[in-house]
Amino acid sequence: MTWTVDGVRISRVVEHVMPFPVDFFAEATPAAVAAEPDLALDFVDAHGRYRMSLHSYLLEVDGRRIVVDTCCGNGKERPLIPDFHRRTGPYLADLTDEGFAPDSVDAVVCTHLHLDHTGWNTRLVDGAWVPTFPRARYLLGAADLDAWGRSDDPLHAPAFADSVRPVLDAGLVDPVAGDRALADGVELRATPGHTPGHLSVWIGDRCVITGDVLHHPIQCRHPEWTATGDGDPDLARATRRELLETAAASGALVLGTHFAGSSAGHVVRDGHVYRFVAED
Ligand SMILES: [Zn+2]
Repeated sequence: MTWTVDGVRISRVVEHVMPFPVDFFAEATPAAVAAEPDLALDFVDAHGRYRMSLHSYLLEVDGRRIVVDTCCGNGKERPLIPDFHRRTGPYLADLTDEGFAPDSVDAVVCTHLHLDHTGWNTRLVDGAWVPTFPRARYLLGAADLDAWGRSDDPLHAPAFADSVRPVLDAGLVDPVAGDRALADGVELRATPGHTPGHLSVWIGDRCVITGDVLHHPIQCRHPEWTATGDGDPDLARATRRELLETAAASGALVLGTHFAGSSAGHVVRDGHVYRFVAED
């Protein structure tokens, strides 16, 4: 898949696609999911579970290569989530095939510091976790660095240690507080709620990479639904509403960070909620 928006070339590397249970969203019911037949089968599988994709977006702008989100990584000890544990996938070969050899990457953006967005920040070399992208600046939300750096959460403390601490120690991190230009016409916008330092990537108002402001197209129909991991559900809801409204008003290409299928589409206002119209 490739898209071009205002001279920015965007492609995607999928690490893996997996089912998530209906109650990933606290307020969801099987009936509410079944009431959205447009979402089958790209986004909801035959068993009524959400199909969720873990992928990176690759941006090429003015000759610079930017990777947005780095999935789960290989070889990470994640016994609490079997799908994330000691993975052995071909992600780096796929990235290279897309023209993004690790040592050619100029910048890495993690929309936030949850473990499914930071994994390939590092890789294991001779028993040590080292930066996968040694020439890159890593742009990470300052408030997330603060929050997760102090956390003893059993999922995220180990992930911070093996996927964030090594790039900090290598001096490769630029903390991002608030909105910030990333490249000509491309900016990071603060979208807090899921995590305190969460960032989304915008190309003007013409394209948005959502991060986990949205996890799934069904949240266009139900912006109030709370995702597992939303640290501040009320703020996450307000941020989601704002992003959906901006995307609907501007007709932006919406690239969902966990959307399966083509991952791409547009948000259309429908009464006081929205519909997601997927691209083929
Ligand atoms: Zn995520």
